[in-house]
Amino acid sequence: MQRKRVVVIAFLLTVTTGCFYRANPPVHKEAEPQVKDELLDVKQNTKPEATREIKPVAERDQPPTSVTVPTIPPIVSEPKVSKVTLGAIGDVLIHIEIYQDAKQKDGTYNFFKMFEDVQSYLRMPDILVANQETMIGGKELRLSGYPSFNSPQEVGDALKAAGVDLVTVANNHTLDRGEKVIQSALSYWDRLGIPYTGSFKSKEDQKYIRTMVKNNITFSFLSYAYGTNGIPHPKGKAYLVNRIDTVQIAQEVAQAKRVSDVVVVAMHWGTEYETLPNESQMALAQKLADYGVHIVIGNHPHVLQPPAWVSGSNGHKTLVLYSLGNFISAQGGVAKRVGGMATIDVIKTMGKEKTITLKQPSFLPTFTSYQNMTQFKVLPLKQAVPVQIRNGTIQFDPVKQHMRTYIHELRFIGTE
Ligand SMILES: [Zn+2]
Repeated sequence: MQRKRVVVIAFLLTVTTGCFYRANPPVHKEAEPQVKDELLDVKQNTKPEATREIKPVAERDQPPTSVTVPTIPPIVSEPKVSKVTLGAIGDVLIHIEIYQDAKQKDGTYNFFKMFEDVQSYLRMPDILVANQETMIGGKELRLSGYPSFNSPQEVGDALKAAGVDLVTVANNHTLDRGEKVIQSALSYWDRLGIPYTGSFKSKEDQKYIRTMVKNNITFSFLSYAYGTNGIPHPKGKAYLVNRIDTVQIAQEVAQAKRVSDVVVVAMHWGTEYETLPNESQMALAQKLADYGVHIVIGNHPHVLQPPAWVSGSNGHKTLVLYSLGNFISAQGGVAKRVGGMATIDVIKTMGKEKTITLKQPSFLPTFTSYQNMTQFKVLPLKQAVPVQIRNGTIQFDPVKQHMRTYIHELRFIGTE
């Protein structure tokens, strides 16, 4: 009796788990629709292991011997597309007149109002990079203007509030006031949670490549300056400012490519007040394109130089923003008061392989407005034109034409 029960249970178990089917296919045939059975037969009898490997995941994951063969059609995976808009603004150059204008009765500084008219534009890109030309060492280390700058730390608060996500700090003014000011400035950026690149606290800090991830796209940021106005870095402390050294750049770009999808390099280069890139800039741009850099953000000439596409040796196109001019400064002359924000859409497509495409280069021209060295404000150029046009000093169309010198399809933000 006991033995009989065990046999019956064992029989029932084999039927319900499907083991029985494997040993006795005819039983299964009666239980399952014909079409499914044929599919199963084909799978079991003719598909070698290697062929099964290339099946879509949903089908592959089914145990080949199970009775529950999926009837859903195989999933065709679409390439995954992500998009991020990257923006960049030019030199933030804090002359004495600017921080005096920002000074409040209690001795603190407030720069917020200087950016409030362009803030809605600055917040449009997913990531915004600014070139902080003057170190924000803070008033405890004595503030100073041209030619040896140390700016209030409150500049950082205002830029952050306006939408800046990362600052490039390799400039010809980085070493102006020495290491103390640099360390104080970099610590302040840390406190604000704004990554900086191009000037570092230590060798270890320099080794760590700054990256940002948005919408599944990882960006890395590097920054270099042509020189430091003849000021040498303290012995053994070359990390205090990255110089344009193509051997170092090539190495760091290669490292950046390993940890990110998109490599962005800021270059402090060119000839001051020249409205077109010089030969050295163009040769460096070509090298950066050959290294596989995606976007080059140029600064230092204090005037706008038109952006260009530069083809790299591997066939890809690099967007080179030769010079974004001054974003804010107390420099005189219309050309030095016009700057702007460039943006580019970065599209990452994950199909069989990863591709990065740059689309829709755009530009918002801006103007630093002030009267008698007070009331400093960065305005969209279009907004500034009616005010200034009375003096016949600025015109919008020539700026537009100039910026379209190499990229005719360059789009203008907020004006078209
Ligand atoms: Zn400069």
